[in-house]
Amino acid sequence: MALGDVVNDGLGGLSHNVITGRLEALVNWSRSRSSWPATFGLACCAIEMMASGAAHYDIARFGMEVFRASPRQADIMIVAGRVSQKMAPVLRQVYDQMMEPKWVISMGVCASSGGMFNNYAIVQGVDQIVPVDVYAPGCPPSPETLIHAIETLHTKIEQGEIMRRREKTGAGANIHVQEIPAGSVPVLLGRQPHD
Ligand code: SF4
Repeated sequence: MALGDVVNDGLGGLSHNVITGRLEALVNWSRSRSSWPATFGLACCAIEMMASGAAHYDIARFGMEVFRASPRQADIMIVAGRVSQKMAPVLRQVYDQMMEPKWVISMGVCASSGGMFNNYAIVQGVDQIVPVDVYAPGCPPSPETLIHAIETLHTKIEQGEIMRRREKTGAGANIHVQEIPAGSVPVLLGRQPHD
């Protein structure tokens, strides 16, 4: 069951209607359309993350405008920027305080691999600290790239695939999406930027 156009499809994104749909499908459909990110920005990538929530990119289109100050009310952690060794235990604590089911997006090369900061002060990949589901490439990733990562994650959440994998291995989904240069695709209401 593919994730359809949120605005135009609505419940039509389900293979059954609201009466006959399987409960699991309804739960996954709801989760994919109401994932709330933890308010958690670490460096310059966080500016692009904030831009994604502002009027032009407007991730409210995907039910995500509510960046939660409490990790207990968030189910997506967007690691936006480099992770210092000093910050690593804090990041892990925030992750541990988030309720299950929860997911992680690694935003930018610094979060994913340390990037240009190949030194003792920076964690050389946030997957050493938390299981990563989607990697958004770039320095910084454009809002289009981040939304591409978010929508990829939403599709997997709706399919239930990530939860099955997490239960089996405890690992993140480890999905790598392509970078989309800023402004290269029109931002349409309810559409993925790469459509
Ligand atoms: S990837 Fe680039 S923009 Fe993001 S934190 Fe690193 S240096 Fe800053």
